[in-house]
Amino acid sequence: MLGLMQDWPLTCDKIITHAKINYPEREIISRQVSGAITRTNYGEVHDRARRLSSALIKRGVKLGDRIGTMAWNNARHFETWYGLIGIGAIYHTLNPRLFPEQLKYIVNHADDRMIFLDLTFVPLLEAHQDAMPGVKSFVIMCDRDEMPKTSLRGAECFEDLIDDGDEEVQWGGFDENTACGLCYTSGTTGNPKGVLYSHRSNTLMGMTAAMGSMMNVTGSDVCLMVVPMFHANAWALTFSGPMAGMKLVMPGPFMDGKSIYELLDGEKCSFSAAVPTVWLMLLNYLEDNKKKLPYLNSVLIGGSACPRSIMETFDKDFGVQVIHAWGMTETSPLGTISQVEPEIAHLPYEEQLSYRLKQGKPPLIVEMKITDEAGNELPRDGVASGILKVRGPGVSKAYFGGEGGDILDADGWFDTGDMASIDPLGYMQITDRSKDVIKSGGEWISSIDLENAAMGHKAAAECAVIGLPHPKWDERPLLIVVLKKGQKAKAKDFQKFLKGKIAKWWMPDDVVFVDELPHGPTGKVSKLDLREQFKDYKLPTA
Ligand code: AMP
Repeated sequence: MLGLMQDWPLTCDKIITHAKINYPEREIISRQVSGAITRTNYGEVHDRARRLSSALIKRGVKLGDRIGTMAWNNARHFETWYGLIGIGAIYHTLNPRLFPEQLKYIVNHADDRMIFLDLTFVPLLEAHQDAMPGVKSFVIMCDRDEMPKTSLRGAECFEDLIDDGDEEVQWGGFDENTACGLCYTSGTTGNPKGVLYSHRSNTLMGMTAAMGSMMNVTGSDVCLMVVPMFHANAWALTFSGPMAGMKLVMPGPFMDGKSIYELLDGEKCSFSAAVPTVWLMLLNYLEDNKKKLPYLNSVLIGGSACPRSIMETFDKDFGVQVIHAWGMTETSPLGTISQVEPEIAHLPYEEQLSYRLKQGKPPLIVEMKITDEAGNELPRDGVASGILKVRGPGVSKAYFGGEGGDILDADGWFDTGDMASIDPLGYMQITDRSKDVIKSGGEWISSIDLENAAMGHKAAAECAVIGLPHPKWDERPLLIVVLKKGQKAKAKDFQKFLKGKIAKWWMPDDVVFVDELPHGPTGKVSKLDLREQFKDYKLPTA
């Protein structure tokens, strides 16, 4: 017997319509490429997105078409997404930090027929448009008086496009499993692979992320949305924000410590989300300039492991709660969140911190387990570390165009490529990326744990650990450090500092200092590039 409740397809156009009806005045504030701050609200964004949809239909855009967006977080980017979503076209976020070769590959692979871009990216796309023959036209997201002279094919100003549309347009009316957004991941081997979100998966993830036990997105919050929309749906904030009527502040291209501080303070932001690198830059700025964060209550940190030093500094110096999260492009992206649950609420600070530093627990729509290489499930004892596998309605079942073949096992589990343990309370901890884990004498050393421990040194600005070949132990760790401005330290200072904080045999065989670490397109340290950079480096113990 079927239930007798209404069958209402979960399409994402309903999210912005809901925001327009219920929270029309809640603001969306953007820092433009020019640096100027502009203000709009959910009501206006909704109306302009409808006009955009109508103008896009006039230009032949239809259900299932892929449209690229190469843009920072700003209100026009938001309007573009919802303008596309409403008519069943697919926003395809282009990460501007990709190498041109990868960029051309993904635009062609996705067969994007138009690209919306911020002013920043005009030169980049002018240089490469000939290698993207399928792109018929480019829309530049700027005011009319900012419109540059450009050789981009069919270039049009965003504001002209909006003016050409009207609000009388049909939104939705298609199946909730219809494709909604496309985001390529370079986290896998070989060419980047396209993760194709559906309206249903985005709606479920938006609702999930908003839950109190997850990101706790509320209409009383003001969120500085630093995590880019081209990084896995800005961690679902693009959907949970308007669902809850949360005021959004978008930093545009400016993510340095000073700019982030100005927005946090000037807009009285209570919540924010970003990768650890952004928080490191902010904390350095606050320390150098003796600033405080009176309005900020909590920050979500994910994308790579949150170092203990960041969590402790936010706790002790600023009274800001850090919420640690894990996810991937393939998980829409929320996989787990570490919240202080009743079982750990009463624990002394240090003990509680050890749980909060883990990546935490999954929501209802994500199931997870750890296995050995043969696929046998490992115990949830907080000790065994194995391959982390996930499944659920927010997890990819295939990549766009069938790239990479079958990505699920017979029972529907997706191998995340991460190694993890799960403790008896259910908190998952990432121990490493499976390809970054250091194999020493048949045992594993977690590069993440070592990096986090080294980050506790007061002179460390950024740390990375890679395994280098060793004749006796197979591999041994090399610690690579960027020092804070004006700080000095020697290899033996770091080794001395680490003594007692890590297992004896984890001690890095050497420590080298560099001016900067290579970062990948989503701001993570690129271990691949580091391994290449240090491939001829000989450890003193080898
Ligand atoms: P991406 O698809 O670019 O978001 O990358 C996903 C990968 O980032 C995951 O598979 C992890 O290796 C890593 N990652 C994300 N969040 C965390 C975290 N909180 N701690 C450790 N690694 C993380």
